[in-house]
Formats: sequence, C-alpha cells, structure tokens
Amino acid sequence: MTRHGRQAARLLATAALISLAVSGCARQSDPAPSPAAETDTAAVEWSLHGGTWDEARHSPLDQINATNVQRLGLAWEAAMDSARGLEATPIMKDGVLYATSTWSRVFAFDARTGRRLWNYDPEVPGQRARDACCDVVNRGVAIWRDRVFVGTLDGRLVALDRSNGEVVWDVLTVDPGLPYTITGAPRVVKDMIVIGNGGAEFNVRGYVTAYDAQTGEQRWRFYTVPGNPDEPFEHPELAMAARTWSGTDWDTTGGGGTVWDSMVYDPELELLYVGAGNGGPWGRHDRSPGGGDNLFLASILALDPDTGKLAWHYQTAPGDSWDYTATQHMVLADLNIDGAVRKTLLQAPKNGFFYVLDRQTGELISAQKYVTANWASHVDLATGRPVENPGANWASEPRLIYPSAAGGHNWHPMAMNRDTGLVYVPAREAGWVHHPDKETWFELGVDDLAAVRSGQPQPPFEGQLIAWDPVAQAAAWRIRQPGIYNGGVLSTAGKLVFHGDGDGYFYAHAADSGAELLKLFLGTGVIAPPITYQLDGTQYIALLAGFGGPVFNTMEDSMAATRYANNGRLLVFKLDGGEVPLPPALPAPHPVPEFPAPETLSAAALAEGEQLYAVYCGGCHGLYGSRPMLPDLRRMALETHAIFKPIVLGGAYAPKGMGSFADLLTEAQVELIHDYVKVYAAELRAREAADPVADSR
Ligand code: CA
Repeated sequence: MTRHGRQAARLLATAALISLAVSGCARQSDPAPSPAAETDTAAVEWSLHGGTWDEARHSPLDQINATNVQRLGLAWEAAMDSARGLEATPIMKDGVLYATSTWSRVFAFDARTGRRLWNYDPEVPGQRARDACCDVVNRGVAIWRDRVFVGTLDGRLVALDRSNGEVVWDVLTVDPGLPYTITGAPRVVKDMIVIGNGGAEFNVRGYVTAYDAQTGEQRWRFYTVPGNPDEPFEHPELAMAARTWSGTDWDTTGGGGTVWDSMVYDPELELLYVGAGNGGPWGRHDRSPGGGDNLFLASILALDPDTGKLAWHYQTAPGDSWDYTATQHMVLADLNIDGAVRKTLLQAPKNGFFYVLDRQTGELISAQKYVTANWASHVDLATGRPVENPGANWASEPRLIYPSAAGGHNWHPMAMNRDTGLVYVPAREAGWVHHPDKETWFELGVDDLAAVRSGQPQPPFEGQLIAWDPVAQAAAWRIRQPGIYNGGVLSTAGKLVFHGDGDGYFYAHAADSGAELLKLFLGTGVIAPPITYQLDGTQYIALLAGFGGPVFNTMEDSMAATRYANNGRLLVFKLDGGEVPLPPALPAPHPVPEFPAPETLSAAALAEGEQLYAVYCGGCHGLYGSRPMLPDLRRMALETHAIFKPIVLGGAYAPKGMGSFADLLTEAQVELIHDYVKVYAAELRAREAADPVADSR
C-alpha cells in the first residue's frame, strides 16, 4: 500500500482506536494605518480571532457574572445550513456577527437580532471533502478595514466586502493537485493576511504565507520542512532544517509540518508565532530512517512578520512519531516567574506537556504534563528537549502511547483569565496504539491489544476542562467530562469560564473554584468556542453548535447527535433570554434492506473487502460496529446499492461531499468493498430481527 494509503488508514481509524485503546495584551502603537486601530476594541466587540492580540480569549465584560449567570437564556438563534461540524470563532464588529459554517461558507448576521445580512459560498467542490482529515470544517474569518477574509477547504484565500459579502479578491494558496486543505482562520498582521493549510496526514509539505490585504499579492512564504535537496532551498532556514532529516526519500513524501491552525501576532515585539504540525508519514522510521529531529515539525516558530524570516524556533516533539502537532492555540502572557516579569508564550500541544516559553528568545522556561503522557518522562530544562521513553518507539512493535493522536489538547481554543492567572484547557485523557505493520486499528485483535496494554498506564478515558496555573505548572482544578470531544473555552471578567460539550450542554464555571454555575441543555453537540460582546448595554454570548470533526465515525451514546438532528446553529445568549429550543429528534434508523447475498465469497476476499473498507470508507462511515454520524452504509437503500460503483468510482455523490475514489481504487476493489458492506449489513439485519428493541449499532 502506498504511504498515502497507509497514513490514511491510520488517520481514518482515529476515534475508533481511541475508544478501543481504553475501552496583558500588548496594543499596536504604530500610528500608521493598521488593523489594530480598527480592530482592537475588545471592550465591547470581538474583532480578532482570539479576542485580543494575545489570543487570551478573555473579555473584560462582566454584566453576566457569578451572581446572575443562572438567568442566561437565548437572545436569538440562526441556522447555519449544516449538519456537520461547526468549529468557528465568530467575530463581532460594528454590530455585525460574522461566522463560518461547513464548506468554508461565511454568514453575516445583525448581532442584535440574528437577521441574516448576507452569506457567501465559495463553492468548494464536494470532491475535496476527501482531502480533509477531520471534516469539512472552518474555524472562522478575519476582518481588516472593510473586508472579511476566509480560507477555503480547497486552498483559496478570499477577501469579501464586509457590507455585502461580494468577492474582492480570491487567490489560490496551494497546489490544487495535492491534498491540501484550509480549515484554520486567517490572521491579520499589519496590512497582511496570513494563512497556512492542512494535509500532513496525506504527506503534503507545510508552509505559511502572508498576502497583501489590499491586493491579495503574496508578500512571503515560510516552508516548515525542507523540499527536494536537488533544488535550491526557498529560504536559508531550510538548510539548517535539512541537516536534521535523513534517508533517501523524505523530500518526496512531503514531510508534513502543516500550519493548520494556531498563529498569534505580538505587535509589541513585532513577532508572528505560528505552530507547525506533525510529520507525514507519522513514523520517523518511515519518514527519516536515519533519525534526526526533522525540523520544523511539531515546532513553534517566531517569524519576522515583514519578511517571514525565522527569529527563533522551539521544537516540542523532536523527530515526531505520534502526530504530536504544535498547532494548538497559543496565548501570550506577561508572567511573574521567580521574581521577574517574563514575556511568555503558553501552549498545551497534543503531546501532553504545557509549555511556558520566553517569547522574545524562544527559551524554554518550564514544561509539565497536564494529562497522562508516557512518550517522554520529562522535558530537560537544560537542553529544552523532551527525554523520550524507549517504549515510545513503535518502529518494530506496537505501543500504547499517551496522549493519543487526537492529543491531550487539540485545536479547541483555551482561554486565560488575567485575574485568576489560570489557563483553561479543554483537554482529554486517551491513549492510542501505534503499530509498525498493521494498516488499521482493528487488525489489532483483542489478544494483541491486551498484550500491548499490559503494564502500561490506563487512566480514565474522558474529557477534562483543566484550570492550569502556568507559573506553578500545576492544575488548580479539573472538571471531568464523559465525552472526549468537547468545545473551546471563553473567559470573562465576570469571573466565569464558558464552554460547551459534545453531549449538547453549555456550562459556566466559576473561574477561581471551578464550581458549576450554569448547565443548559442545547440538544446540539458543541466543539466550537464561545465569544462575548456588548451592544446597547447588553452583554451577549455567542456560540456555534454543531457536532463533527474527526470523531464523527464513532458516536458515543451520550452525544446529542445520537438523539437529535445535528442541525448547525448559531446560539446567542443574554440575561433573561428565552428557552433554548431543542432540535428535532432523529427519526428511527432506516431499516437494513433485504438484498441478494453476495455470490460465494471467500474468507480472503471478505477480509480484503473489510480492509479496504476500513482504509477508504471507515473514517467517515464508521468502523466495525461504531456508530457513524454520516450515512451508515449498512442501512443503504436498495437504490443506493444499485449505484454503488457510480458513487465510489464515478463521483455521482461528489456534490454531497462523497468524492470519487477512482484514482485510488479499482473496480474489483470496489466490488470487494461492496460485498463486505453487504455481509456487514446482513449481520446487522439479523441482529435487529432478533432483537428489534435493542439500540442498533
Ligand atoms: Ca495530524
């Protein structure tokens, strides 16, 4: 199997495997025309992705506070025309709320009433859903002057007129022949718009690019990994990076290191910090067999925003082998550490360590585990490097690794309260088995899995909201959550921490003690972060609700999307608002139809069909009894069975997001998959016939 296929296999198994494995913000002082003068007015607005330049996601608003938050109710809601994951941070500026939906669509609403003012659809081809590891999501827009900017799933950066959503310019930022996607929010830096991309799971080469906000012309591009050594390096930093790679074909695999989410600009220090992603392929034994750190994978990079030149870098997981991205949200904070005020950068990347760096120099100040992490014992402060456990190397045998590839913390933004000094991290405890030969997780039989897990830590499998003290490097409190895929966080001067969860609840906790002060049932799973703003003397809290992302192939019973239609919506709350209407209940599952059994099928053919299904279908349509949010192929109608090949090879459903796989699968392979689906469906039909009351899985 190709590297692409192998990597896809590992990726597609994400959530299922996790289950199995555990059964003081600086302000722009430049007087020249700049976005800061127009956008840093967080007192009543939310005009920057992270709230303020430091991305603390802490609002000074306190009308809603611990004494009255119980009175929170719905001010208005608006449909987002989606049934998949909503991950965006809304932006509120000049009384208009801008939010993105699936497929990179942009909506503008009257922030007081919810009236839709305009919407923009970049018309991303449905075929491109296949290139997105983790759903057709988008994490929001940026605003500069009279424009709104959005990155699209098919790799474009688009500037829109704020007043009507009309396109001002539209530039392609990627090679359209490669599986690049954009899901992250662009950032405004001076008069530039900066955007990265995703695709490390499919072995693309990561980079971040700055564009002129006015014209869309490229200003600079920084590659996070070296390219073909037979060609000149695009910029000098890549010579240093190339010395940390080895082997014969790393330049042909892409390498990964994609900048798919986190970026933060410090206008005082004039530095742009970006987080780089995991290696592609995941295992360094595949990617760089002679070893090496593989710069700049899993690194935090400080760039000169005018030129894109590297000021410093810090690599969180040298030679990353575990999908340990450093793309997680970064917060800039000035902290009193050992009697001195340090300008720090805070990050809780996937690898389970909470890092405090000096953001002027990149020096590591401290790093401690915020969740279970067995890949490294600790981070050596003298060298700044993690001390990797020998047991973390899975080149020759399977290993149960904590945190999982989903990370101790993923893209879901954290928040920091200046008064408590705490950082609220939406985290999770979960492990993952990395295996050198097996293509998919379920090839690990129960016996194998028991052997892999033997003698290894087995912490609870759960989500956690962690209040982390970055100075003490210790948790002040932890809220345990049943599901592992929950929402991002908002902090307010009302001494509150707001967040939603995948089960469809919205919470307010006391910022100091963690006491639960509000629990509202929305009926819609939440993965996005809330924001807050104030208009006409009323404080509002806005939140996108809509479940999805990488776990939609394995729905847990508790998740709202297993009981209610997952209709994406923008919910806006205020004090003394109304009830939150629940979405319609899901209809009973479509019965498994009767169809002719596949012609005699050998065990080997069935196994091959199962394997192909897992690699190419399971990530979206569910694996081995998991409950998918997208269509369960076992319940396909007879008419759909009849056009199985036109769908899989002909792209008949590409407009719905089910692209053609004609470039990856032969007709014979598709027949094997189809046969496997029929056998798999017949099992379910027999089970349901025997026990029609049982919950059909
Ligand atoms: Ca990844």
